[in-house]
Amino acid sequence: MRVLVVGGAGYIGSHMCKLLAGRGHEVVVFDNLVTGHREALRWGRFVEGSLHDAAALDALFTQHRFDAVIQFAASIAVGESVREPLDYYRNNVGGTLELLTTMKRHGVRRLVFSSTAAIFGTPQYSPIDENHPHAPLSPYGHSKLMAEQVLRDAAAAGHLDAVALRYFNAAGADPEGELGEAHDPETHLIPLLLKAALGQVPPVTVFGSDYDTEDGTCVRDYIHICDLCEAHLLALSYLQDNPGFSAFNLGNGKGYSVKQVLAVVAQTIGRAVPTVMGPRRAGDPARLIASSELARSKLGWQPKMPELETIIRTAWRWHQAPGF
Ligand code: UDP
Repeated sequence: MRVLVVGGAGYIGSHMCKLLAGRGHEVVVFDNLVTGHREALRWGRFVEGSLHDAAALDALFTQHRFDAVIQFAASIAVGESVREPLDYYRNNVGGTLELLTTMKRHGVRRLVFSSTAAIFGTPQYSPIDENHPHAPLSPYGHSKLMAEQVLRDAAAAGHLDAVALRYFNAAGADPEGELGEAHDPETHLIPLLLKAALGQVPPVTVFGSDYDTEDGTCVRDYIHICDLCEAHLLALSYLQDNPGFSAFNLGNGKGYSVKQVLAVVAQTIGRAVPTVMGPRRAGDPARLIASSELARSKLGWQPKMPELETIIRTAWRWHQAPGF
């Protein structure tokens, strides 16, 4: 397939490009490099540009014939979205709208879209399946839910076919050490703990120890980045026989508390990890665990690296020798 990867210079997008190229697909990346990394662009062709530039998008779709598009480009920091909601709606809803309009104009129908567990808000039951009500707690979550609604409506009108994949906690890195997670500033737990162990950041604050969980810290469902990318490949195949709009939750169905993650990190890397206890972070539900039964049955998805230790070991390899 000839696949356009929008946001292919980012954490998930770059891993996706490597996987697509490794399976013999033709890859073109479109990225504005605001948060992505030029050094991560090692697979496929690169076109620098913004989703807000309709002329650049039109030129991209005129120069290349795409069989499918994967849309990763988005602003992703929950806290920032509360402070700068307009930026989040502009990038995540407006940018996606521009992309869809261009796809429609050029007759490209198939889209896989990066969505998030943040569309669900505080869980009403656990694990969270696709029937769980949507009640985002942040502009970030709302922006992703709105984009899903746009996809649903455009699919119903017959303009495109789309799969939205709701990620729980993406983590880990390319097992060959060529790619990793490098956000600036880094806010995610596992890379922060690894950076703290390396002395690159101050001790990590544990956000709250008074939650209604086994040890009082928040529980999350961590999923290896490569397993996440495999689900996108399966979604591309699924779209060939299943037009319209579909959505799948992606996680391992197993939760780890912040304290448990800390213990597995320390054990896996054989170093102490400096942490301090702190207050809760606004908008953090106590427990977020996915039911991915639908992805397993409909997409045939089967995570290959579900163990937290594997996720951490691959991330640690990259953090010790980051390529960028
Ligand atoms: N967390 C923490 N300290 C940090 C960053 C994260 O205690 O410096 C906790 C956070 O409250 C959540 C879990 O680690 O329960 C995972 O957070 P992350 O930001 O990695 O992902 P999110 O769940 O927000 O998508």
